[in-house]
Amino acid sequence: MSAVKALASLVIVLLIGMPVAAQRLADTVVPEHYSLWFAPDLEKETFRGRASIDVVLAEASSTVTFHAADIDFEEVMITSAGRRWTARVTTDEAAQTATLTVPEPVAEGRATIDITYKGRLNDKLRGFYISKANGRKYAVTQLEATDARRAFPSFDEPAYKATFDISVMIDVGDRAISNGQQTSDTPGPEAGKHTVTFARTPKMSTYLAAMIVGDFVCRDGASDGTPIRICSTPDKLGLTSFALEAAQQQLAFFNEYFGIRYPFGKLDVIAVPDFSAGAMENAGAITFRERLLLVDPTNASVEARKQVASIIAHEIAHQWFGNLVTMKWWDDIWLNEGFATWMASKPLAEWRPEWKVDLDDAADTQGALAIDALRSTRPIRMTVETPAEINEVFDGIAYQKTAAVLRMIEAYVGPDAFRQGVQSYLKRFSYANAAGEDFWNEVAAVTGKPVDGILRSFVDQAGAPVLSVQASCGSNGAGELDVRMERFMGTPGAAPSGPQVWTVPACFKAEDGRPRCEVMDRPQLTVRVSRCQASFANAAGRGYYLSEHSPESVRAFSMDRGLEPAERLRLLGDEWWMVRAGRHDIDVYLDVATTFAGDETTVVIDSLAGRLTNIGEDLVAASDRPKYEAWIRAHFGPRLAALGLPGDPSDGDERQSQRATLLALVGIVGNDQAVQKRARELAVEYLRSPSSLSGTLAPTVLRVAAVAGDRALYEQSLAQLDGLSAQPELYYRIFNTLPWFRDPVLTKRTLDFAFSSAVRTQDTGGLIANLVVQPWSRAATWEATRANWPDILKTIGEFQGIPAIVESLGAFCSAASAAEVREFFDSNPVPSSERAVRRALERIESCVALAERQGKPLSAWLARQ
Ligand SMILES: [Zn+2]
Repeated sequence: MSAVKALASLVIVLLIGMPVAAQRLADTVVPEHYSLWFAPDLEKETFRGRASIDVVLAEASSTVTFHAADIDFEEVMITSAGRRWTARVTTDEAAQTATLTVPEPVAEGRATIDITYKGRLNDKLRGFYISKANGRKYAVTQLEATDARRAFPSFDEPAYKATFDISVMIDVGDRAISNGQQTSDTPGPEAGKHTVTFARTPKMSTYLAAMIVGDFVCRDGASDGTPIRICSTPDKLGLTSFALEAAQQQLAFFNEYFGIRYPFGKLDVIAVPDFSAGAMENAGAITFRERLLLVDPTNASVEARKQVASIIAHEIAHQWFGNLVTMKWWDDIWLNEGFATWMASKPLAEWRPEWKVDLDDAADTQGALAIDALRSTRPIRMTVETPAEINEVFDGIAYQKTAAVLRMIEAYVGPDAFRQGVQSYLKRFSYANAAGEDFWNEVAAVTGKPVDGILRSFVDQAGAPVLSVQASCGSNGAGELDVRMERFMGTPGAAPSGPQVWTVPACFKAEDGRPRCEVMDRPQLTVRVSRCQASFANAAGRGYYLSEHSPESVRAFSMDRGLEPAERLRLLGDEWWMVRAGRHDIDVYLDVATTFAGDETTVVIDSLAGRLTNIGEDLVAASDRPKYEAWIRAHFGPRLAALGLPGDPSDGDERQSQRATLLALVGIVGNDQAVQKRARELAVEYLRSPSSLSGTLAPTVLRVAAVAGDRALYEQSLAQLDGLSAQPELYYRIFNTLPWFRDPVLTKRTLDFAFSSAVRTQDTGGLIANLVVQPWSRAATWEATRANWPDILKTIGEFQGIPAIVESLGAFCSAASAAEVREFFDSNPVPSSERAVRRALERIESCVALAERQGKPLSAWLARQ
């Protein structure tokens, strides 16, 4: 699956409610083939189903247990060795299983289970569910992680791979899409219906099955002989060409990279009006949230184009990593998600080199380290049993941290050797399942490098190492680096539970500017270098660790013109963590920030802008605010003025991105009234004519205008939403602006809107989270959220959006708020967001500690400016 990128650290699909007991099936009955027939009734929001499952019994037994949830069994028969019995069915709601019992033991060997049943097309965006748009209903599946059992009785664990024959009887005029190529479409058999049948799938896990039913239309293409379609509701077909171009390039790229042809015959990619995750890699039938697939290339922002291309690449990469080779159990979900995340950048780097996706990857690494700096982080691999536990591990650790660790190892062994290891692993485990050990043993054997030791140390222990480096002079003018490793804790005084050591390829920037790497696998290492001089300890910026240098060295590195963009990003990011951890005072960071204020690299400026925003919100005393704002304006205002506002419309993506970042920094953090006024004029013009602004600049213009905006601008913005339902990017551009209006009356309006039926339930949690994140609406939103909690849980389905809300509470920065949040979740526990609650609490505590410790140094630094 894929999360929304902006919410990368958040969990995607969640279940809460009754704690569910561990429910692994006994390994005595193994499915080989499913024949499934579905007849959805969109009007009544129900469906009829027939399942015929070929199984093999390891021993004679008069009972068979499999998964089923929210399924009403009708007739159930077991056939074996020419005999046929009617089975009695007992269900266990807590375990989500059904047990069939027949009067005498079914013999060891093959048997067939035939089931007719009824199910519900629910409104909770999981299992087989109802989606609504354009005054009609659609039936769609989302089965990962544990919801295939809601669509059909199944052995619903990833290791039980089987082949699938799927057919559906649907309304005349509607189309059905499933995993296999359509093989027939015949009228009836019931009146007003037609039956669509699909080709048998290769062996695959149950969570990858898919059915999509409605008046979808598709744009056709092909790549390397594989047919590709991008599908949407009829009003949005015009927005599918960019996705098709990306998918075509990527499929060919992956065929070549993996050395294994795309295994699922055809590829459909479908935008679904209501969708809980970002996207889902169903074999051969990938489903998407509309705004993450459909863009108008003439006015889409560079962020939207990158996001669409990157998520498509993530999902297509899953067809190999996840669908062809699948983890044995959900504890190894990182083998799916981390690999798809790591892989997604590769076709993009070839397709759009100007996007510099390697720098986005470096920024993602910083994002993963931010989670790992918390005591409440988790190891990449951990035991999970219940659906709530399983769903909670689809997080920034499985996705971003794994991808960052893979990039480090790939850089260390070399891209060609690493690719050979990957190819060898995929070939060996095709159409089967694997565990973490299978991957690292294979890559270690192929590359001859200690990849097994490195991966094991990063996969099985929580947190990230910090390498503290002290340079000293040896004899003959040569130098020595004394390197110490320990677990990094992002809050002062947060001691790790015990000593931890990783096996790390540590790369130092040598005199010639190139990385010099040593595998460090003990707490201390001495590195001899030719010069008696400090050496940046994350050369090329690929290491999954933080580096600590003396303040003098950090200031010197920041002046070093030889540092590459990724290295500058890592230096800046790591130094911020030294401040947060209480290892350095904030003036070191601010000196580096001053040096980097003129940096030409967008991702460096973005990182800087993010931290300067945090500092402005959480650390600057009210009496210092004018000084801080003036400092921001003095250092970034001239650059914005030079770029112009709105500037040259023919400017490329990079300049437009920088203009947007500087506009937010100067207009919002710097509180520049003239810039706000200009943004307001441009916003009014934009609302009249969206083509008046570049798509990349427009969202920021709207935000800056909103910050200084009045009720009239708010009404104008809100009024536009209804007319934008067929243009997702334009719709969400306005939608995401609403939380930026500071007027408390308007916050209340946005809150009412968030809780109303005008907002799709897929978007409710995100909107509330965005209101919590803004300092001006935080308290009011938290109060309204607590007051409406039972309704929120009920409306947004108890499993989606909640983690976004929980994570956003980490934006608070006072001991009193921490106590409130703790108290609330103590009395309203959310099992699948338990770790998210701990993370939020720890972020609040860390912010309080930061404000206490750095308030005075910040004030003193500002006084010196
Ligand atoms: Zn994924």
